Amino acid sequence: MDDPILRVRNLSKQYDGIFNLEIPRLEFQSGGIYAIIGPNGAGKTTLLNLLSLLESPTSGEIFFKGQRVSRFNSLSIRRKVSMIMENPWLFHTTVFKNITSGLKCRSVNKKKWPEVVTTALQMVSLTGFEKRYAPELSSGETQRVALARALALEPEVLFLDEPFSNIDKINVRLLEKLIQRINRKHQTTIVFTTHDQWQAHRLADTIISLVGGRIVNGSLENLFKGMLEEVDGSQFARLSADVSVSVVTDKMGEAHVCIPPQDIILSHEHMESSARNSFKGIVRKIHMEGQVVKLVIEVAAGVEFTAIITKTSYENMNLSIDSQTYVTFKSTSVNIF
Ligand code: ATP
Repeated sequence: MDDPILRVRNLSKQYDGIFNLEIPRLEFQSGGIYAIIGPNGAGKTTLLNLLSLLESPTSGEIFFKGQRVSRFNSLSIRRKVSMIMENPWLFHTTVFKNITSGLKCRSVNKKKWPEVVTTALQMVSLTGFEKRYAPELSSGETQRVALARALALEPEVLFLDEPFSNIDKINVRLLEKLIQRINRKHQTTIVFTTHDQWQAHRLADTIISLVGGRIVNGSLENLFKGMLEEVDGSQFARLSADVSVSVVTDKMGEAHVCIPPQDIILSHEHMESSARNSFKGIVRKIHMEGQVVKLVIEVAAGVEFTAIITKTSYENMNLSIDSQTYVTFKSTSVNIF
């Protein structure tokens, strides 16, 4: 098998002793779509900045196609990747000049510019936008021009930091389709960050979950920040004023609490079982994915659990939006970190 397009080993980045990103190993295969998900402050942007060589790690190594990145080759490798920031900034001039700004820096022959710009704009479905004045574009169009500017440089890896955060739903879908098209047509490796787990599942081949600067296994559905406490000799994690879940842990104080969606059982009646956690809730979202169905169930103000069940169970239970259901899981299913 070929070397991964990107590989990191024992990567760390520290900010004034306050935040510490620690990634022992991570690989990105050429042509893949990767989503980095995690709560606020997890280190998603930091990881993206390191991978795109915009920032240097405190320690550790990054390899691009097997070649170790060093201060001698980082500039030439940086030219093979492009990063689009969360709020991309366009120059106060035409779309054409914005897109050619990168070509100019890389000394691309001027004669080629019109063709490169036309192709890049076609790729982001903005054909004919060359003469438009950038500050007058909508946020969705701004995002797509930034994408065209990056694509004009034909990057092998495209990094996108929260590309969907400031655009409306229609533009989100459009951008998702564009990203898939770019990936398929040019085999561009794509790495993006998002808070939206559904979107990550929709778009990415691989999901990287970050919490507190560490990669954690599995997706981050049902991830909460909770306060661990002991009541009558048993341990609980308080998720909100109204919801406390029984857990098994030696830790105390604040912690991340995560319940795998597959470990949640849904039932119409309260279950008499050894499982210590059972809550009555209301179905708020339903999402079909092949033979599995994901449901989001609200059990109290601000506390929602995602459950994954088979399509057959879903049909047998006859659930729909606003149905009532019980959510049950064992204390041992609750991960604490
Ligand atoms: P969000 O989803 O809110 O954008 P994130 O997962 O992208 O968050 P980062 O932006 O990578 O998280 O930040 C991780 C932590 O590092 C945060 O606590 C942040 O305040 C801190 N941090 C980021 N950049 C710097 C910096 N240049 N100097 C000091 N601290 C920083």
